[in-house]
Amino acid sequence: MASRSLSRLALAATGVVLSALLGGTAAAQPADTPVFWRVPATAAQAHALAAAGFDVEEGDAGTVSVVGGQAVANRLRALGYRPTFFDTVYKELPAQANSLAADTFYGGYRTVTAHENHLTAVAAAHPDLATKYTIGQSWKKAQGQGGHDVQAICLTKKQTGDCTLSTTSKKPKFFLMAQIHARELSTGELAWRWIDYLADGYATDATAKSILDTTEVWVVPISNPDGVDIVASGGNSPKLQRKNANNTRGGCSGTNIGVDLNRNSTFKWGGDSNSACSETYQGVSAGSEPETQALEKLARAIFPDQRGTGNNDPAPSTAKGTMITLHSYGNDIIIPWGFTQATSPNDAQYRRLGAKYSASNGYLVGTNEETVGYDTSGTTDDFTYGELGVASVTFEVGGSSGTCGGFLPRYTCVDSTFWPKNKGALVTAAKAAAAPYQQ
Ligand SMILES: [Zn+2]
Repeated sequence: MASRSLSRLALAATGVVLSALLGGTAAAQPADTPVFWRVPATAAQAHALAAAGFDVEEGDAGTVSVVGGQAVANRLRALGYRPTFFDTVYKELPAQANSLAADTFYGGYRTVTAHENHLTAVAAAHPDLATKYTIGQSWKKAQGQGGHDVQAICLTKKQTGDCTLSTTSKKPKFFLMAQIHARELSTGELAWRWIDYLADGYATDATAKSILDTTEVWVVPISNPDGVDIVASGGNSPKLQRKNANNTRGGCSGTNIGVDLNRNSTFKWGGDSNSACSETYQGVSAGSEPETQALEKLARAIFPDQRGTGNNDPAPSTAKGTMITLHSYGNDIIIPWGFTQATSPNDAQYRRLGAKYSASNGYLVGTNEETVGYDTSGTTDDFTYGELGVASVTFEVGGSSGTCGGFLPRYTCVDSTFWPKNKGALVTAAKAAAAPYQQ
């Protein structure tokens, strides 16, 4: 782990003490909800835990999250670790939240159908600005089991050739995607607000107008619709589904089914979990999942290949295109690489771009090792950067505890906190699309 994360490690340790003092237990969770343990661990320890068969996944700097019940916690303690229950706690809902429309859940979060209707409505209301695309299918839809199309919207003040799925159209492109991890609830809502800000703001907001006059903005608000259906099926107790709904490997139950779509991309695939029930199960092969295929097909359709094939080949300073994949949580801006602890050949440029994003949201900029503390192969942003040279980062939205923390922040946090913090970063990403490596 790099030295700059040490202060975060200290903060994380403080959080553990607080959590212990608050006496959080798993007892309040619904019976089918997986229990998460926060475990202070170095990157090397995280690797060792995964190798020993623990279900290790995202955590804050200097910690990992391990999925399992009391027996898993006892095994961790026996190995000398100090697991504490961590915040996937359901926040108390305002009284009126229980009477919201059927296309929302857990106090206002939108269902997949609501997102689909939103894209249709925006395209209908702003034909000069918005174009909706079906870019592929969810696993269930591909299997003929219901499911959804994976949908994208392209926003720009349309001139000839704009938003036509072309690598050679004139305007530079910013690609925002959200909720590839279904339970990371706030992220799809941020995509929703970004779409509305641009489409509704064009007429009155000089920044929105400037962006759409000069840039193609592509948004996939729900990258994992089958997973979000599972989450929403919990209503006021959302299910903590992270992966897609592919259950063909068998042996998994509840929210353990599925492939982690953010470990399934084709670039440097293969370094993550082969255990079907793991939260970071990478799938049977690179790009095996239809949702992954849809996202990669879209990226290849709109961005030319601008980078060489070697790990140390930098994207040229003239390369265009920005990409942000929204995750939660951790208050991080994660720059490449994911698949290796080595920094990318555009590292200095990424740190400058990341600092500009951070000027808006205040998140910590760094590589995996410097932020979350673990490697990640087969991520979407490693693909768009590694294959295409697009300046690609992960945002981990929100903190680890409190009303607006964890996987399940209260819905009102979207407008009180997450959107005000991140709107400026998304504006920066759109403005940087013309020359992201010259910021
Ligand atoms: Zn995530």
